[in-house]
Amino acid sequence: MTEQTFRLTYSTMYDPPEELHTNFEAEVAKIKANLGNEFGMIIDNQDVFTDEKFEDHSPINTDMVLGIFQEGGKKYADEALASSRRAAKSWNKTPWQERVALVRAAGNRINERVYELGAVISLEVGKNRMEALADAAETADLMLYAADQVEENNGFVVKMGQDPIVGYTATNYSILKPYGVWVVISPFNFPGALTGGPVGAALVAGNTVVMKPATDTSWTARIIAECFREAGFPDGVVNFVSGRGSTTGQALIDNPEVDGVTFTGSYDVGMKIFRQFANGEYPRPTILEMGGKNPAIISKNADLDRAAQGVYRSAFGLQGQKCSATSRVYVEEQVYDELTSKLEALTKNTILDDPTKQATFMGPVANKYAYQDFKTFTEELSQAGEFLAGGKVRTEGEYGKGYYCEPTIATNVPLDHRLWKQEMFLPITMLAKVKNLDEAMKEANDVAYGLTAGFYGNKEETQWFFENIEAGVTYANRPQGATTGAWPGFQPFGGWKGSGSSGKNAGGHYYVQLYMHEQVNTVIE
Ligand code: NAP
Repeated sequence: MTEQTFRLTYSTMYDPPEELHTNFEAEVAKIKANLGNEFGMIIDNQDVFTDEKFEDHSPINTDMVLGIFQEGGKKYADEALASSRRAAKSWNKTPWQERVALVRAAGNRINERVYELGAVISLEVGKNRMEALADAAETADLMLYAADQVEENNGFVVKMGQDPIVGYTATNYSILKPYGVWVVISPFNFPGALTGGPVGAALVAGNTVVMKPATDTSWTARIIAECFREAGFPDGVVNFVSGRGSTTGQALIDNPEVDGVTFTGSYDVGMKIFRQFANGEYPRPTILEMGGKNPAIISKNADLDRAAQGVYRSAFGLQGQKCSATSRVYVEEQVYDELTSKLEALTKNTILDDPTKQATFMGPVANKYAYQDFKTFTEELSQAGEFLAGGKVRTEGEYGKGYYCEPTIATNVPLDHRLWKQEMFLPITMLAKVKNLDEAMKEANDVAYGLTAGFYGNKEETQWFFENIEAGVTYANRPQGATTGAWPGFQPFGGWKGSGSSGKNAGGHYYVQLYMHEQVNTVIE
């Protein structure tokens, strides 16, 4: 395979050309030889340092200090917003063609630094190399997709009908215009795509932006911020602050200068932001992308090899720390035993190791809280049911230096147990035997979330699945992943119910418009 024919996505990542491996390894070696540098925030295109700092440790080996970052707090959150407000005066009015060109330049810059970004993501989050490179590549693709959307829609300037007023000529235009100043708060698990993607969309729509990443993934976001600076955005159009969510993030949310926010993260923090934003002087757009409790349904007519492969990859890829991870599997009783033995075989062969190594499928979970949660949840599940695989953390030898958790499949847990409904966000999936597909669908939809869902079965059943499932991204008969693996332009990503607020998916036809409000211009000549 040559580079020209290979396009890295979550679906194609299982068979990459050799070049991806050599480039990635070279970057990891380079980065590891130069760890522990200090990185500023970026406000007004200047590096900004504070007295309070924090260390960014790798979950692969917590002795590894990746970098030193700034604890921004309220002072710098406010400063960054003031900078964005100043820059908004002219950026909001910049012609869309210039905005498109600059966002494309930033996307191209990400592509030029894709191996560096991928290597940092792998070291910061614990993603295996292909997942990390895909996150980096998706960052650029989301930005470029939003730019394409603005261009294809002619900047969202639409000539409307002429109203039939006798004796006058009326001209009507509908124009989408930016809101002003936008805040992007992103999670640790896709620190590239879920920072750069919304920032790119907000910018190409004409807003200025303050971005605040998860504390655990400040380095990834800093590289993205550098790419925007290198692309040549005017001072203050893109600002980057680091620091804790409870202080720096909260200060951004509290500041009335904010005209709109994109938050991706947990349901609890997302709903807190939603309620708080509702207390403002008037309604402001609040794009929330929150958790998931994603089901896979397996019919007696399914191709069970595909089903087992898809569930395995989606349950344990990125250690189950994807919002789209398969965390519940409902299997028709006729094929339950066969499916579970296939899934068990795949799971027991998992390579759990340093995620920068080529053979590794699973790395460590991202931080000590997730590691502790794993121990708590597996203890609870061991009392309620049994483990088909996993159930333990690994501590022997090198494992003891990081946060390594076994891929875990829980069975025979009563369907009324609370963990069927609560997102665990870990390499834990739960399997249930069901009498028929109707029972499976009832259980699948009986949660507060509605992010992704997967199905394995025949053609008629697949149609029934699409008609009845309550989720924003749905897949059928997919070995590459039962519920994971969305990509801009192919599977726009977003959730229903408690998984998302906008009802429109990122990387799709209706997304960039969320960052603009409509103005209608009527002129009578
Ligand atoms: P999180 O704890 O909710 O944090 C998300 C972001 O919010 C982080 O930057 C965090 O900063 C910040 N934050 C925390 N408290 C805040 C506050 N009071 N005000 C403002 N910002 C605050 O989520 P996470 O653990 O990083 O990510 C995992 C969650 O994200 C899961 O629930 C997952 O399903 C969801 N997720 C959803 C999607 C989607 O597209 N629907 C995609 C990916 C992940 P700190 O890191 O400093 O705390």
